[in-house]
Amino acid sequence: MIQNIISYDPSNGKTLGELPGATVTEIQETVLKAKAAAKQWKNTPLEKRLRTIQKAYSGAETSVNRLAELLSQEMGKDIRRSISEVQGTIWGGPYIANASLEALRSKNTDGATIKYGPLGVALIISPWNYPLAMANNLIIPALMAGNSVIWKPSEETPLIAQAFFDIIQHGFPRDVLQIVHGDGDQGKILVESDINVIGFTGSQAAGKDIMARASSSLKRLVMELGGNDPLIVMKDANIPAAARFAVASSFENSGQMCISTERIYVDESVAHKFEEQVVAIARQYKVAPWNMDGANIGPIINKKQHAHIVKHIKDAVDKNCRVLLGSSDYQIPFIMPTVLADITPDMRIEQEETFGPVVCISSYEYIQEAIERANNTNYGLGAVVFGSVDAQEVADQLEAGMIGINQGVGGGGDAPWVGAKQSGFGFHGSAEGHRQFAQVRVISR
Ligand code: NAD
Repeated sequence: MIQNIISYDPSNGKTLGELPGATVTEIQETVLKAKAAAKQWKNTPLEKRLRTIQKAYSGAETSVNRLAELLSQEMGKDIRRSISEVQGTIWGGPYIANASLEALRSKNTDGATIKYGPLGVALIISPWNYPLAMANNLIIPALMAGNSVIWKPSEETPLIAQAFFDIIQHGFPRDVLQIVHGDGDQGKILVESDINVIGFTGSQAAGKDIMARASSSLKRLVMELGGNDPLIVMKDANIPAAARFAVASSFENSGQMCISTERIYVDESVAHKFEEQVVAIARQYKVAPWNMDGANIGPIINKKQHAHIVKHIKDAVDKNCRVLLGSSDYQIPFIMPTVLADITPDMRIEQEETFGPVVCISSYEYIQEAIERANNTNYGLGAVVFGSVDAQEVADQLEAGMIGINQGVGGGGDAPWVGAKQSGFGFHGSAEGHRQFAQVRVISR
């Protein structure tokens, strides 16, 4: 169990700060305090919960630049993207709270009233790749449903989590929102403690462990897990648009995005043209630390993840893929923009989530072959198809929670963010999502 969490700047390995990891006793005390706070908070009317969140978040407006800089330093994404994440989180808090309010209002049906009450204590465990946004998506509906919340941020990004927490927590009654620092070990203790619902965003492996540990007391679970998203490019697709999307979606956040395009299947009749355009676009990406002008691929978060990406590339190279762009200089912490072709199903890069700036292309003769390969994975977060006449028919056969036709995945407004298969269950956003943190009660008279 980690005692001292050291936060590094992934661009240069320099120490940014340290925070103590919570001890077992501290975790137990936090849970007791959360249980006591939940008793008060559940009696706070919905409208007042909304006002509390609005007020708490409005206090963060003046700190956008400071928070964004810290986010970039600690996570590595360029400052433009960090500003957008911080700003989106600060606006998103009240927005999600407002949508939750509507979802959680009591409803009358024929002879009964349906009420959405709290479950008790919600544990929100978040990842490092979008360290504020991913936490926010689950913390807000959990609070709105009248639960107290314990937030366990990633050990890779503890400073930005603490800085954001320090700003917003003042707005809440004592212990309604608490933070616990640590790695997976602290996470495991929290999961097994006397809490009632877990909102988890992270890897499939951790998700499975959490599910096993939570089973003894049948804790409610929301699981937003990893992805291995396919992109199918059909012969009648707009090739320049498909190539632009392929590169942007493979390289966004240095490829460290749950809905990154991880595998591309392109009709063989347009494959050459597509590959050429992908390489031309990929060449323009600049790999650099977050504060360099024009940086759009930053460092990989840590050595372990860097080694994982290199292993996937080398495995594909050993199995005879064609390297269209890339460098065999894998100096930590960067991975140069990489484009690989002739990817085959036996390669790890096709089977597993790579989470790095790599475009992986295969060509197909028959569309059914592309659909089968796209679905031949236990992941099912997102999937995209570029095409014209039959694109909808192909989309209908893709096994994913979110499917984009000639665009990326994810609906606008309060559409649910949802995975299929082993990419998880439960939602970010949407009325169904906001009600996940509530106990439904039917009162008939
Ligand atoms: P991770 O699973 O290693 O860690 C996520 C969080 O879980 C961290 O806070 C970590 O300390 C904690 N944790 C790890 N093991 C645990 C355990 N056994 N019990 C309790 N807590 C535990 O994931 P990561 O590396 O931080 O994030 C990257 C992963 O997250 C990728 O797989 C990515 O696809 C996924 N992700 C999914 C979504 C989505 O919306 N579906 C969004 C963002 C990231």
